[in-house]
Amino acid sequence: MSTMKFCRECNNILYPKEDKEQKILLYACRNCDHQEVADNNCVYRNEIHHAVGERTQVLQDVAADPTLPRTKSVRCSQCNHGEAVFFQATARGEEGMTLFFVCCNPNCGFRWRD
Ligand SMILES: [Zn+2]
Ligand SMILES: [Zn+2]
Repeated sequence: MSTMKFCRECNNILYPKEDKEQKILLYACRNCDHQEVADNNCVYRNEIHHAVGERTQVLQDVAADPTLPRTKSVRCSQCNHGEAVFFQATARGEEGMTLFFVCCNPNCGFRWRD
């Protein structure tokens, strides 16, 4: 299970970022150049099939919320769209915060978790 990560150098939030050459998930700081490899490289792929049927308190129109951060470092497994909104929420039946992604394609809106 993933939790919010913070930069060792400047204590800002680290954002997930896929390294397309090495096919691994990184966490990168937007404030400085610091980035680190996610603890478990498989998290990114493994969790996708658990997302089916996932129910959270998240609103459907979250992808249209301009206050949420966006990333172009992930790709929707349903429609192949290359941009997603991401946010932290608590999944039902779990403790702690989980990072969720919502596809920005308005015709898709597929949601998955980190
Ligand atoms: Zn930093
Ligand atoms: Zn999509």
